[in-house]
Amino acid sequence: MVSDCIFCQIVAGAIPSDRVAESSNVLAFRDINPVAPTHVLLIPKDHVVDSAADIRPEHGAILAELFGMAAEIAAAEGLDDGWKLVTNVGAAAGQTVFHAHFHLIGGWHRPLPTPDAESA
Ligand code: AMP
Repeated sequence: MVSDCIFCQIVAGAIPSDRVAESSNVLAFRDINPVAPTHVLLIPKDHVVDSAADIRPEHGAILAELFGMAAEIAAAEGLDDGWKLVTNVGAAAGQTVFHAHFHLIGGWHRPLPTPDAESA
């Protein structure tokens, strides 16, 4: 665990999150600032690398687990018309959290979630 990493703190439960799925190695939770009706972040629970640029062959199994979980969530969310799995590398690309993660984005046939709609 990296103590000043917000995603490590989410894994530890020190910061609340809207968890969607998890396995022993991977956690999926809803992005706090969604850019699409479905916007879920998938992260390795261990802070194995800061970004996708540092992924190496030894991370293959956890990456396969993460991609498989993304597909399961996409199916559960009804993203039958397609979805994206996006990762930002570096601040210039928009990376703000330096714990490798993937954005599962889709559901454009539905409206963006709003705080009011979620609590209704
Ligand atoms: P990136 O900009 O690619 O590094 O993605 C980081 C993402 O984390 C952004 O889309 C943020 O909205 C999201 N985020 C930051 N803090 C939280 C949080 N506490 N819970 C859920 N998502 C968060």
